[in-house]
Amino acid sequence: MKLTILGSGGFRVLPRIGCHCRVCDEAREKGYRRLGPSMFIHDHNILFDTPEDIVVELLDAGIEDVEHIFYTHWHPDHTFGARIVEQMNTTWSDKMEWRMVSKATTTIHMPGIVREEIMERLGAFFDFWELVGVAKVEVIEQSVVIGGLKIEPVVIETRHRTMTHSTIYIISSGEKKVIYAPCDITPFPRDDRFHGCELMILQTGWWGDEMAERARKGPHYEISFEEILEDYKNPLSCKDRNRAKERQGRKGVPLC
Ligand SMILES: [Zn+2]
Ligand SMILES: [Zn+2]
Repeated sequence: MKLTILGSGGFRVLPRIGCHCRVCDEAREKGYRRLGPSMFIHDHNILFDTPEDIVVELLDAGIEDVEHIFYTHWHPDHTFGARIVEQMNTTWSDKMEWRMVSKATTTIHMPGIVREEIMERLGAFFDFWELVGVAKVEVIEQSVVIGGLKIEPVVIETRHRTMTHSTIYIISSGEKKVIYAPCDITPFPRDDRFHGCELMILQTGWWGDEMAERARKGPHYEISFEEILEDYKNPLSCKDRNRAKERQGRKGVPLC
């Protein structure tokens, strides 16, 4: 399985417009960027999420063909580049008329509840792309098999203030397994299917006292990187883990 992280920025990219902190200024000076969250699997031209920077990300990576798109959740930083299906899949009509026609169709996969949440907000766009034949939306039942790859969603109800759902994808090829969990993965589910993976790509979460304070204040609790790792490694229940934390006198916010 060959994959590329096209972007690992969160809902704000780097360098940030109008920000002149040391990191943003250095990025401007040296010409590097960290764009919106997206991953591409080369084996079968599979893209995960379409941030608004996706055109630049695909161009930079030299990717010319996207056959499948999987969405994790509706948030704009993951969906606002969905219009690439028009950019990639249209061509001039061969009847010498002023019309762009479909030359390919990208299949768009999402779990049922994520589809509902995306359609509620962006449905008119997807309806149009289906009408002109550049996209076809499919609901994932249990999993999707593409070539030798199996892609399985684990949907969670997030603690984000919008109280909507996000998806963690398990991508497996024979014995090899990759987990893709880029955003809104609190509470991180305990799931045996995650075990034995070769690579786990996670939302960074937060670290440090300042961020702990912000996380504590809300409006919703974001998980720390340490807690994500603990959650993955530690077989204790949340309750036991909170108690263990208290015993150790460690700062932190109850996980559940
Ligand atoms: Zn999100
Ligand atoms: Zn996000």
